[in-house]
This record gives sequence, C-alpha cells and structure tokens, in this order.
Amino acid sequence: MDDLVETPDDGGAFPRLSEAHIAALSTCGQRRPTQEGEVLVREAERNRDFYVILAGNVAVIEGYGTDHDRLVAVHGPGRFLDEIGLLTRQPAFVSAVVRDPGEVLRVPLPALRELVSRDRKLGDEILRAFLRRRELLINAVSGIRIIGSRYSPDTRRLREFAARNRLPHTWIDLEDDDGAEALLQQLSLAPDDTPVVLWRDEHVLRNPSNADLARLTGLPVPRSAETDLVIVGAGPAGLAAAVYGASEGLATVVVDAVAAGGQAATSSHIENYLGFPAGILGAELADRAVIQAEKFGATISVPAEAVALEHHGGYHVVRLDDNTEIRTLTVVIATGARYRKLDVPRLGEFEPTSAYYAATLAEARLCGQQPVVVVGGGNSAGQATMYLSQHASEVHLLIRHDDPGRDMSRYLIDQIERNPKVDVRPHTEVRELLGHDGQLEAIVVEDNHTGARSRLDARLLFVFIGAQPCTGWLRDSLALDEHGFVRTGPDAVSPTWDGPQPNLLETSRAGVFAVGDVRSGSIKRVASAVGEGAMAVRLIHQHLARIGRSTAGIAPPAS
Ligand SMILES: Cc1cc2nc3c(=O)[nH]c(=O)nc-3n(C[C@H](O)[C@H](O)[C@H](O)COP(=O)(O)OP(=O)(O)OC[C@H]3O[C@@H](n4cnc5c(N)ncnc54)[C@H](O)[C@@H]3O)c2cc1C
Repeated sequence: MDDLVETPDDGGAFPRLSEAHIAALSTCGQRRPTQEGEVLVREAERNRDFYVILAGNVAVIEGYGTDHDRLVAVHGPGRFLDEIGLLTRQPAFVSAVVRDPGEVLRVPLPALRELVSRDRKLGDEILRAFLRRRELLINAVSGIRIIGSRYSPDTRRLREFAARNRLPHTWIDLEDDDGAEALLQQLSLAPDDTPVVLWRDEHVLRNPSNADLARLTGLPVPRSAETDLVIVGAGPAGLAAAVYGASEGLATVVVDAVAAGGQAATSSHIENYLGFPAGILGAELADRAVIQAEKFGATISVPAEAVALEHHGGYHVVRLDDNTEIRTLTVVIATGARYRKLDVPRLGEFEPTSAYYAATLAEARLCGQQPVVVVGGGNSAGQATMYLSQHASEVHLLIRHDDPGRDMSRYLIDQIERNPKVDVRPHTEVRELLGHDGQLEAIVVEDNHTGARSRLDARLLFVFIGAQPCTGWLRDSLALDEHGFVRTGPDAVSPTWDGPQPNLLETSRAGVFAVGDVRSGSIKRVASAVGEGAMAVRLIHQHLARIGRSTAGIAPPAS
C-alpha cells in the first residue's frame, strides 16, 4: 500500500478540527507519539477511544491482518478517526493503522461525550462527520456478508434487518454469484445451510435470527427490567417520548421490533420537518434522535417486538417475542403503521427480489440504471420517485386517482413535473406482474378511465399505498377503532364510563398512552408524531402524580 495521499473530504465526512477544538479535546485526552504499523482502532473492537491525528498519517483498512485487506481512506493531521458506531458502541467495521508515524490525541469515550455535550459546535462537527461516514462506509466496505438466494425469504429478512439498522453489509446472491458456492465450500457449508452471515471470516452464522445478527453487530438486545416508562416503537413519536421522558428524569426503556427510526427512516428525504430547510435523510433524523435519547439515559433495544400488554400487581407488563418481560409504571404505544401490499397476482413470487416498501440507499443501490415503477399518490411515493430517479433509467409513477395534487405536497409535484426521468400516470392501476425466475421484468397497467392496458418495462416495483396500524398485539387489551387504530381521550371509553376520564393521549387503560400514526385520528406526519411523543410525557407526569408515584421512582436499567 504505497498511496498515502489523504482522502479528500466528502460532504463534511472528514473535516479538520480547528486549533481551538483540538485544545478543548486536549483537556480531557492524552497526547502520545505513534509508531508505524500501530493499530489505533481494530476491526470488531467495541469499547474504543476517540483519536485525533496531530501528526503523521493513519490508514483506514478493511480486513486488516488478512490476505484480502483493502485500503478505505487515509487521514492526516487535524482529522479524527471512527464513525457513528463509536457513540452507539457498535464494533468497528474497519481498522485504523498508523502508516506515517507522528502523534495522536487519545480521548476516552465518556470524556468525549461529556465534552461534546458542553461544546455544541464541536459536538455538531463530530456528529455530522460520523453520520456521513456511516453512509460512506455502507457503500465503501463489505461489512458483514450475507450469502443467500434471492428467492429465500430468510435472505430477504436478514438483508432488510441490516439495511433498516444501517449496518454495512454485502449480499452475495447464490443464484448468480460464481464465487458464492466456492466461498461456502471453503467454510464447509452447503447451499442448504444458507442464508449464512459471515463477518471477518471468524463469525459464521447459519440462518441466524435478527436477534443473533443484532448481537453480532453490537445492536442492543432487550433485557428484563423494571422501569418508569416503556415506549413501544422507536419511530419519531417513540423517540420523541424517549428524549422527553429520559431528560425529565423517567427511567425510560424503548423497544422496537425492527430498527430505530420507524417509517421516517425509510424515507429518502424529509423536506417539511421544521428546522431543516434543505431537508434531512430519514435515517439521519433517526440516528440523531437515538443519540439524543441515549444521552439522557434512555435504553433502546432492537429487535424487540412487543407481543402482549398485561397488568399485574400494580404494574403494566410489556411482554416481548423472546418472552422478556418489562414491568413498568407507564407505557407509550408508538407502534405506527406498516405499508399495505398491492392486491395483484404473482406478488409473492416477485416480492423477495423485486418489490419494495421503502426507498432508502439500500433499495436505490438495486436500481442499477434500469426502469422502475412507483405506485402511490402520497408524499412518500413522491419522495421515492424523486430519489429513485437518481438511480434508475426511468421512473413510472402510477397514481390510482386523477389528481396528483390531491394527496401530494405542491413542492413535490413541482419537482416531479420538472424531472425528465419521471413518467407520471394518473388514473392508472397495476394489473399484472411479468417476469421469470422470480425476477420482475415488466408490469401491465390499466387506465381506469378507458380500460386500456399497456406494458411498462420495470426491474423493481416500489409500493406506497397507505398503511395499516401495528396493533394486532393490543386487540384484547385496549380499545381500538374500526380500522384497528388505538382510541385515546374521551373516544377511548364508552359514554356510560364512570371511572376517571382518560387524558388527551391516554388509552382505555390508565397509564397507557398512544402517540403518532398508531393513534386513532392522528395526523400522519413526522412533526405531529414528534409533538405527540413530547406531549405524552407531560401527561405521564400528571398520571404519576395522580397515582402518588414519584417520577424517578425506579433506577434506570443499566445500559
Ligand atoms: C417513505 C415515507 C416517506 C415519508 N415522508 C414524510 C415526510 O416527508 N414528512 C412527514 O411529515 N411525514 C412523512 N412520512 C410519514 C411519517 O414517516 C410518519 O407519519 C411517522 O414516521 C410516524 O411516526 P410514528 O413514530 O408514529 O410511527 P412509525 O414511524 O411507523 O414507527 C413505528 C415503529 O414501531 C415499531 N413497531 C411496530 N410494532 C411493534 C411492536 N409490536 N413492538 C415493537 N415495535 C414495534 C416499528 O418497527 C417502527 O419502528 C413518510 C412516511 C414514509 C413511509
């Protein structure tokens, strides 16, 4: 490796710290000389320190110490190492090795956290760079390797879990990757053992559960606990409740079935959330909120699906799919909604490879400059159309009704109308999916005014046609409306109810609140979900006062 040219900054990923910031960091760190070949950060290491390079060069390498190491970046004086996983205590996905000796400043993680919570400018600079670096890392390194067939539902499950949790990963498709079988043979595995997850040639998991993959990659899995507040669902509503709950002294535990961020994290670009005039990636909003909630002491666990809400001995009990039980004084239900599926023949056949319900970087990478179809008339379909147009040769946007302006914001319609790669088709519905070997090739659509059918070439199908609430697990415990959304406030009890009236966001069970998209009558927006999450905490304090419990009656569970 002879090219020690420093990697150029990429959108704020590799800033150089100012003298003032280095001086501030020096107050809580230690300067020391480095030697050529010294490993500052080792791949897979979990508990590591923060390093600023003061002199010399450091190479960032994937697979260091193996015969297939790969240079990812080179950093020189004034730059700092690592990425968002340092703050979220995930293992490192790359190593950092001194190439040109010099000096580094080593800052222990707790001291860094303390300093950046006091120095907003420094905190912002580091956080922005860390978030951008994770995005770059997802594209630049192999990370964990998922070997499996495109037709296997478990392969898709693992790929989705990795993508939703923003884990650097590579998918090796057994169906068309010549090296896949050879790789399996090297590991003494057969195609029947797949999907297989590999990391650093050391960890081999055969068809692991999402929880196994979470453990491998350092995501925090749930534990039994007793607490003040359990929040079920870590979308915008749940994360807002976590930030307010934890910052106001409540021992707060958040569980999510899939990943933090909820639907918002499946959005490529949110442009109407207050305070972000240039828009913000849904995934970035989620990462920022997670760090903010954890800063105040909330614990967030994934994957952790709530399967029952019970009540024993004065406590609400949230039971998870792995039988973990969390006893709590109060609960916030923030489980949002899941996207509906198209009612069209052969969907199941194409779903593993060609049909998607989100448009993030992971899905965009699959477009490969081929034509794609987006179905839906709301903002999520509009955003997906704009984003995918950067990665596909053409995007056909199919809207069932006549007026694109009915459910979509004007700013999106304007952008779409100006985009030469987008073909908007109002009053059009999908009738048939065509293709071979599970691979979508074309879609037959029908003009629902004239009945005329036509064929559109399409490699991928993206569906955004409304959502249904994630409340199956609450059917026997809370009052739901006719569509399954959770009733709150006066709607939650019958007119003849003679107990205390539920508070505005309180459900039919005292001390259990519902916020965001899952709540009957809610406005389906990030801002309203966040607002309700914050409001719920105020109402929780009132509830605790009413039942005579102090707000921080229980020590927060150790994280
Ligand atoms: C592609 C897309 C683009 C969008 N763009 C915008 C936009 O630009 N502006 C805007 O204002 N809104 C937008 N929205 C809508 C916005 O994202 C939602 O209104 C918002 O995310 C709702 O937040 P929430 O926290 O209530 O629920 P959700 O975001 O749905 O989060 C719910 C969470 O609960 C978890 N969960 C579900 N069931 C369980 C269970 N049993 N146990 C544990 N966890 C569970 C889920 O995994 C999920 O993470 C968009 C939505 C989509 C899909």
